[in-house]
Amino acid sequence: MEEIERRMQFVFTLRSNGVTNADVLKAMESLNRENFLEGIFQERAMENTPLPISCGQTISQPSVVGLMTQALELHRRCKVLEIGTGSGYQAAVLSRLARRVYTVERHMRLARRSRELLQKLGLHNITVVHGDGSKGLPEQVPFDRILVTAAAEDPPQPLIDQLRVGGIMVLPVGQSHAVQTLLKVTKTEEGINYAELGSVRFVPLVEGIEHDVLD
Ligand code: SAH
Repeated sequence: MEEIERRMQFVFTLRSNGVTNADVLKAMESLNRENFLEGIFQERAMENTPLPISCGQTISQPSVVGLMTQALELHRRCKVLEIGTGSGYQAAVLSRLARRVYTVERHMRLARRSRELLQKLGLHNITVVHGDGSKGLPEQVPFDRILVTAAAEDPPQPLIDQLRVGGIMVLPVGQSHAVQTLLKVTKTEEGINYAELGSVRFVPLVEGIEHDVLD
């Protein structure tokens, strides 16, 4: 299949799975997911499936990336926090739609790799931090939007605290290794609202950091 047809197919699959926001579709079409994968998995980049990355983690399914990004209702002025950088793909999508993206990864090896890659791709409005994202990123508060791409049992309180009033957080909640619920948390003057967006499956949010041996 020609590259152009592959892209058309990719966008068509996103649309069929409920990703309808034109800006999100454009951002995802403009980024080659292959860049965020390694070895034999690169040729499967355009498939709508999660795939393995290093440190036993996964790059999310493209339609889930699209649905989560869409649920954030991003605008150009947003300062966004992502927890779970992984390959850097989701951060790259966010960077196309927001002013500034901070992304936190607990595996040093993944943090380094994605930092180098995002730099190479010229996405200069992203800062990759090696740290424990379950505590958020206190030095950059508050955030207009927060996206968590690993599953916690409940929304971590530090993340709710670091969200600006009027802000939106999207995250999977539930037991790890089971089907989880995608939640949209909205913070208002009156309090916190929760809406369920559907079922998803993510790797668990794990406390603490890893200093992986580098190759
Ligand atoms: N958004 C990623 C996919 C995420 S997989 C992408 O686009 O590729 C989930 C990631 O969350 C993994 O890389 C895992 O190491 C990381 N993670 C899990 N718990 C974490 C924590 N407490 N702080 C930061 N990162 C965490």
